[in-house]
Amino acid sequence: MARTYTKETCPLHGSKYCALLNMENCRTCTVNCETEEKAAQVRADLDAICEKMPEDGIADLFAGDRCRLCKGEARPKKWYALADLGHREPKRRKAAILGIAREPHAGTVLPVQIACCDACRRKYLTLEYVSPVMGTAFAAFGLILMSVRSVREPIAAVAAVLPFLVFAAITALGIAGGTIIKKTLRSKYEKEMYLDIMGVDKLNALADRGWFELYRNKDMSRLVFSKTPIKQGIFTAAPEKNDESAENEENRAEKDETV
Ligand SMILES: [Zn+2]
Repeated sequence: MARTYTKETCPLHGSKYCALLNMENCRTCTVNCETEEKAAQVRADLDAICEKMPEDGIADLFAGDRCRLCKGEARPKKWYALADLGHREPKRRKAAILGIAREPHAGTVLPVQIACCDACRRKYLTLEYVSPVMGTAFAAFGLILMSVRSVREPIAAVAAVLPFLVFAAITALGIAGGTIIKKTLRSKYEKEMYLDIMGVDKLNALADRGWFELYRNKDMSRLVFSKTPIKQGIFTAAPEKNDESAENEENRAEKDETV
């Protein structure tokens, strides 16, 4: 459904910039355009971002009904995988302590959303949690084991520090096991899905234009998942679907045929 913007006094009202920002409405708009000067800055920033984007935008990353993280045949979209991209430009020098100018890590931040299926989300979360969960589970097991008197006392009789060492060894075993399982799963999953989102078709075009993942895990992308798409913000607008009009036309055509 098309959104309506009521604040006609806004310098961006009715402009392509307003459309680009895709705010839910004027009340929830987060962009400061109180003065013409601020509005000019917003226009300049948006122009700068658009220059670094593919001509056809990035809506096909999330607007379709199929997962974009699947390699091979894509499963139905059930989730949105969210990540933040950064770009070094525009380089704004901020006066820091003692007046020494510093360049921030990223001049532009762009949240992106990627259509994702149940299976890809499950694989991603498995990789993310297998090590800490295994480590914690083994540590808990070691703790319980060493709290059993009939187990602890004979061990402690050998050396007072030994129960603690056994506990530490069990925990280390869990962490090592988790790491090995993660590695094995990772090489399997890597063939089935994009663990590095910058490998996804549209995002590699963005990488060529200087975009990078702002917060990345060591060996894979850092993603959070949402059932619903991002409501507002730049490049969050899905292309206007002409399904209705197409359907109407079809109906009309059918009617014409029956007449
Ligand atoms: Zn998938």
